[in-house]
Amino acid sequence: SLTLGILGGGQLAQMLALAALPLGVRVVVLEPDPQAPARLCAEHLHAPYTDAAGLARLAECSAVTLEFENVPTQALEALAGRVPVRPGAALLERTKHRAREKEALRAAGVETAPFVVIESGDDLHGALASVGGRGILKTSELGYDGKGQARVNTDAELSAAWAALNGAACVLEGQVPFVREVSLSVARTAAGQVAFGPLIENIHRDGILRTSLFPAPGAELLEPQACELARVCAESWELEGLMTLEFFVLQGGSLVVNEVAPRVHNSGHLTQDGGGLSQFEAQVRAVLGLPLTNWRPLHPTAMVNLVGAASVEGQPLHPDWDAIDALSGTHLHLYHKTWRAGRKLGHVNLVAPDTGTLAERLAELERLIP
Ligand code: ATP
Ligand code: MG
Ligand code: MG
Repeated sequence: SLTLGILGGGQLAQMLALAALPLGVRVVVLEPDPQAPARLCAEHLHAPYTDAAGLARLAECSAVTLEFENVPTQALEALAGRVPVRPGAALLERTKHRAREKEALRAAGVETAPFVVIESGDDLHGALASVGGRGILKTSELGYDGKGQARVNTDAELSAAWAALNGAACVLEGQVPFVREVSLSVARTAAGQVAFGPLIENIHRDGILRTSLFPAPGAELLEPQACELARVCAESWELEGLMTLEFFVLQGGSLVVNEVAPRVHNSGHLTQDGGGLSQFEAQVRAVLGLPLTNWRPLHPTAMVNLVGAASVEGQPLHPDWDAIDALSGTHLHLYHKTWRAGRKLGHVNLVAPDTGTLAERLAELERLIP
């Protein structure tokens, strides 16, 4: 019988485990946080990612995957040659570092926002002008949910923003005048078989994903383009496992890649309840070399994130659980995390028989979530 090792035990590991179990696959997570979500549905190795005994247990698994990109290089080196790690070290080295990722995208012939790598004070000179005069400064490492980012429109703002990031290695990107944002996942087996997830539209609030939508408006034109870009990246980076591309859609319908995550993605959570294969099962299948097809919901589906919200006094504002539950077509997914402002605590998937009904119910659902 198959065993899947996962580096990280957060909500993505929880949902990967929930998808793996019915396939007869047992799951082991290596995760330092004793309260991490996946502890409830997997064998939890409660230790640092570099722990020798923990890594030895993972090395006994059929294959190892991950739920976050910042896996310490040491851990990957310790596993190398003992168990397949999918995606592998070379792909992770690119996707955990924004500058390297953007350079690797360009090398694969994929369009990105204009960018300049900022590693020293000298790199600031002329940087903003060269990306078009309006920029976003982002740390190269460890950023998520818009953390470690600042919009800058003057050279003075750029210098101040870089100082506020303590002179960390950064990328300065030009602000892209996108009309919407979409994402698409691609999976590839070790044998080279490629499969795609659906194109999904994403709406952000305060730098955090708020709502995802399937079908994405304009998918007839955008999806073939997105699949082609995803295939090019997956093949030239020799992906094993699953990765997700975030795109900006420009006026006129061309796509620019924003960033790549070497794993399932928050936007793909709606595949859990749309009726098709879920992104979690797709990652499990791709990593273990089980039969794999393209995956997409059978019905119009949306997802709304439950992000810890606070009143002006800082008191927790909770969603109206009973009303959410009573709304037709909702599926609640909670991560067993304690409330904290700005923290992702769960999500609600919403399924409807047609897009008109989905839009109506989504408007109602959004009103119930602060
Ligand atoms: P996550 O990993 O949680 O998706 P992140 O912290 O890595 O987020 P990005 O995806 O780089 O951040 O940016 C967050 C959001 O900020 C984007 O989805 C987009 O709405 C906006 N944004 C980022 N870069 C640009 C850009 N170059 N031009 C215009 N908007 C941008
Ligand atoms: Mg990111
Ligand atoms: Mg992003």
